[in-house]
Amino acid sequence: VDPADSLVHALRRAVAEAPERPFLAYFDGALTYRETDELSDSVAGYLAGRGVGRGDRVAVLLQNSPHFVLAVLGAWKAGAVVVPVNPMYKSGEVGHVLKDGEVAALICSDRAWESYLRETAEGSPVRVVLTACERDFQSADDPRVLSFERLPQPADADDLTAVARAGHQAPQDRDPAPADIALISYTSGTSGTPKGATNTHGNIMYNAERQRTGLGLPEAPVYFALAPLFHITGMVCQFGACLDSAGTLVLAYRFEAGVVLDAFAAHRPHYTVGPSTAFMALAAHPSCTRDHFASFTVISSGGAPLPPALVEKFRAGFGPYIRNGYGLTECTAPCASVPPHLEAPVDPGSGTLAVGVPGPDTIVRIVDEEGREVPFGEQGEIVVRGPQVVPGYWRRPDATAETFPGGELRTGDIGFMDEQGWLYVVDRKKDMINASGFKVWPREVEDVLYTHPAVREAAVVGVPDGYRGETVKAYISLRPGAEADPGDFAAYCKERLAAYKYPRQVEILPDLPKTASGKILRRELRSRVRDN
Ligand code: ATP
Repeated sequence: VDPADSLVHALRRAVAEAPERPFLAYFDGALTYRETDELSDSVAGYLAGRGVGRGDRVAVLLQNSPHFVLAVLGAWKAGAVVVPVNPMYKSGEVGHVLKDGEVAALICSDRAWESYLRETAEGSPVRVVLTACERDFQSADDPRVLSFERLPQPADADDLTAVARAGHQAPQDRDPAPADIALISYTSGTSGTPKGATNTHGNIMYNAERQRTGLGLPEAPVYFALAPLFHITGMVCQFGACLDSAGTLVLAYRFEAGVVLDAFAAHRPHYTVGPSTAFMALAAHPSCTRDHFASFTVISSGGAPLPPALVEKFRAGFGPYIRNGYGLTECTAPCASVPPHLEAPVDPGSGTLAVGVPGPDTIVRIVDEEGREVPFGEQGEIVVRGPQVVPGYWRRPDATAETFPGGELRTGDIGFMDEQGWLYVVDRKKDMINASGFKVWPREVEDVLYTHPAVREAAVVGVPDGYRGETVKAYISLRPGAEADPGDFAAYCKERLAAYKYPRQVEILPDLPKTASGKILRRELRSRVRDN
């Protein structure tokens, strides 16, 4: 990576190389590289003019729209740190981020501002507000798509689109350096109160670079943003990698299987990455065909477990092989992935699909409770050292010292490595179920459930049990049109797993609760058990 590099520099390179190439494709419209550069310059000039200085925090709470990208690039050009916020967050969750991040400026949709954020921002450190009228950009039939014209101005907030068009001068001296913090990424909170991981520009460039090279993508590749851009996977592997390759990024507001499939047909993308649940939803959509995937060179899954049965069903039904990848917010998305010319092996003992091999310059070790490395094949905690590992958590020296001892990331995931160097993720340490003293890893039971033809989604949790201490419970959602009794699944697992592992309890739900980035929330299922 060029030591002076950042996505702001990548944008400048792309503008010099292909100013009129479409960068942000959105329904029927597109912004070229030149337009994106000019519009984000203006956002930067406006922010700087309102006193947003180097290192100040700018929260961005938007869906996958061109506005999101203009807001992020504008903030970086102003020297600021971006705090991407999940647009599904409720007032209390946003309030925590605004306060904890000591956020100076907030960029959000006008609808969110009017409905709850105005109140949330009261008494917070926020002093500059920009709103974007996203809803006008959603409909493919809307002739105003990307016209950047009509925009109502909510009182006490300026309009992002109008600001972008106003032609403010970007400050000239604030280009980010690799060691500067680019993002404060609040972890999705599947494990408790969100903490802000401080991803530097160097962290982002390293992983963006790795996601664009060696995949065999054509020149000026077309990326489809399946993952939300506010999440680190979307930010780095889609927006970052696409900009770094001067490609075209297709955006579709938020995930809806039918809309995504239409966009595949219209834009013929070469690459996308999303959580495995997104691929399950696409595969279950009645209009999904092989042709929708014909243009893809590579499809990656990341950020959540990938059941081997899904990989096989997907290949048989639609053609592409889904390439696994493993990462965390704390290592700026991937730290291990499946090299494009290989297929991930399945561990014969446990049936687990490998997540990949560590990237270059990345050292992944498996350690025991005392931090000692364990032999190949043995389980332990996965720890990671490499150029994508963040320097720490925002203003949390204790949590930083605990999670990053000596600069190495303790992931909290249990895994093992085979002699060929393939990494396997067994499960999260804290999700282990202790049934009569036997360890049960939910993932292993879920992988078996996914081989059942009626299963669309499956999640396994431990529930309190007077006799065993904990017992295994499975939550399942069915494929469209499938019929099954809870008892069928228990019997199915019993045939395939040791007696202490099969789910003694099974509940069928219409849908399983998920985070905005598509991960199934076992935490919520566990609290469902407690509440009942
Ligand atoms: P929080 O840290 O607040 O609990 P989160 O962990 O969901 O939120 P992320 O950083 O997005 O936040 O998720 C990283 C976790 O996702 C990893 O620690 C791991 O448990 C899981 N994960 C990521 N990729 C894979 C994969 N390929 N296979 C299995 N698990 C994965």
